[in-house]
Order: sequence, then structure tokens, then C-alpha cells
Amino acid sequence: QNLTKYFVAKRSLFGKAESYVKAVESISFQVIKGETLGLVGETGCGKSTIGRTVAGLYSPTSGQVLFNGGNVHAAIRGSNPLAMRRRIQMIFQDPYASLNPRMTVGDIVGEPIDIHGLATGGARMDRIYHLLKKVGLNPEHASRFPHEFSGGQRQRIGIARALAVDPEFIVCDEPISALDVSIQAQVVNLLQELQEQFGLTYLFIAHDLSMVKHISRRVAVMYLGSLVELADCDELYKKPQHPYTQALLSAIPIPDPAVELDRKRIILEGDVPSPINPPSGCKFRTRCRYVMPKCSEEIPQLISQNEHHVACHLINK
Ligand code: SF4
Ligand code: MG
Repeated sequence: QNLTKYFVAKRSLFGKAESYVKAVESISFQVIKGETLGLVGETGCGKSTIGRTVAGLYSPTSGQVLFNGGNVHAAIRGSNPLAMRRRIQMIFQDPYASLNPRMTVGDIVGEPIDIHGLATGGARMDRIYHLLKKVGLNPEHASRFPHEFSGGQRQRIGIARALAVDPEFIVCDEPISALDVSIQAQVVNLLQELQEQFGLTYLFIAHDLSMVKHISRRVAVMYLGSLVELADCDELYKKPQHPYTQALLSAIPIPDPAVELDRKRIILEGDVPSPINPPSGCKFRTRCRYVMPKCSEEIPQLISQNEHHVACHLINK
């Protein structure tokens, strides 16, 4: 709800903040229980910041994250932070950096079980073996170290670690971006199987619309810290409305004659502006081919028509 996250970009000699990276500005959306919401945007648009804030790793600058109506950050600051942390887990982008190279796979998967006090001794080991089997590894892998595994297998270890505490909601922060294309589908399929089996809800972050297509029920598109469009997956691919989404989609080939979009490739002029000093009004206006005077004066609000949300003055007249 109205989630905003700024990071200090520059401090004065006396430690006072002089400028901020406006990573996320006043974003609101819902993830519905049991669904996968895809969150897409270019590198640096703020999607990981949203993921980390939702997962409670960052505190919001303003706004709030609600989980079943309860404030996530208030719960984490309260007397029993582990109860909320257990419900929301995270899978990270880089399966090479996110696993401690000095810990065995068993200890990596066992650590959250220990922190949350879920099992000890033989029951703990059984739980670890069970988790490894669930993600397509085997119990013998528990005594090995991360460097003995491929990227895809490491991501499976990361998934087992996230599952270890029986979470309800998992933020998947670009879980397949660092993997070979041939391995990506396997990991997506595994995530889908686990979702069905455990009734999980996912926020699935990716930098490219083609990566979220097969796993998401709905997709949200971000540009420079703002949400520009959110719709049902099929609807978004067939009838993208925001000029930025149209440009993103035109860059990926879709072998489907029913797609109504003009398939001519839309080339975006210029670079993404700095998030320290983003354009006034619509942040996309410096690159939009439909820009009009109103676009620099007024921030376009995300407005819904039949559950298709768009933030653009051209659409919301
Ligand atoms: Fe383009 Fe204006 Fe719409 Fe922004 S609000 S996407 S600048 S038409
Ligand atoms: Mg990221």
C-alpha cells in the first residue's frame, strides 16, 4: 500500500542526507492467495527493492506491506518477529552468491529449521532429506558443498532452504535469470509443482516479459520505481496498453497470429533517467512517443478498467 523506498545517495560532511535514490515510489498492488504475480522491469527499476521490502529485508520509507491484513514490518519489529518471517521467504537471483560456500548443503537447508526451532536431531535430518527430495536432489547431497553443484542444482538448494520453514508466500527474485536457458524451464516447472503441492503464493520477479509468461497468472510492469501496468497475463500480452509495456513486448517474438499488437519492433530512444532525479509527472515521458503537455505536469495514477490497471494519461482520459 503506497510503498515508497528511498536510499541515501549522497551525504554531507556532517552525515546529513543530501540526495536520495528513489527506488520505489508510492506503489500499491495485491498478490492474491495461491497466485503467481509476475513483476517485470529493466535492471534498476526497483523490482528487487519491492521484493526485499515485501519480504521484510528492507523497511519501507513510507507506506506499508500487509499480509492477511497484518502489517509485516510492525510484526517484525514486535516481540515475535520469527512468526512473520516464517510465513514469507525469499529465493535469490544468484545461486552462486546466495549459498555460503563453507556450509554443507544439509546445514544450508537446516539453518532456517534451527533458527525457527522446528526440529532437532534425527527429525531435523529427516526434514532436510525430505526437502532435498522435494526439489529433485537426493539425501546424499546433504554432506556436500555448494561448489560441487551446477547453477540449476544450486537454485534447487536455495528453493529447499526457502521451503524449510513451511512458508505461505515466497518472493522469487529473478530465480532463473542467472541460469542457462535449458535449465530455466526445469526450475520454473519445479516452482509450479511446489506451488500446487503446498498451496504457495509467489511474487515472481524477472527483467523480461518472456520469463514470467508461463508461471504468472497476472503480471505487473515497473518503470523507474513506478508501476505502469498490471493485468491478467493473457490480456497483458495480447492487449498491452501502456506505451512502455508495448515497447517491452515488441522486443520479444510471440509465435501467435491471434496477437493483436502491431508487431513492429518499437525502439525506445534515450536511456532510463536517473532515479535520483526522475522526470516530473510521468517518469516515462522522456522516452514516450505519445508524450503530451499533461504528461510533465501530472503523475498518471494507476487506474483499473475490468481489472486491467494502467498509469497513462493517454488511456485514462
Ligand atoms: Fe506517455 Fe504521457 Fe502515457 Fe506517460 S502518461 S506513458 S508520457 S502518454
Ligand atoms: Mg534485481
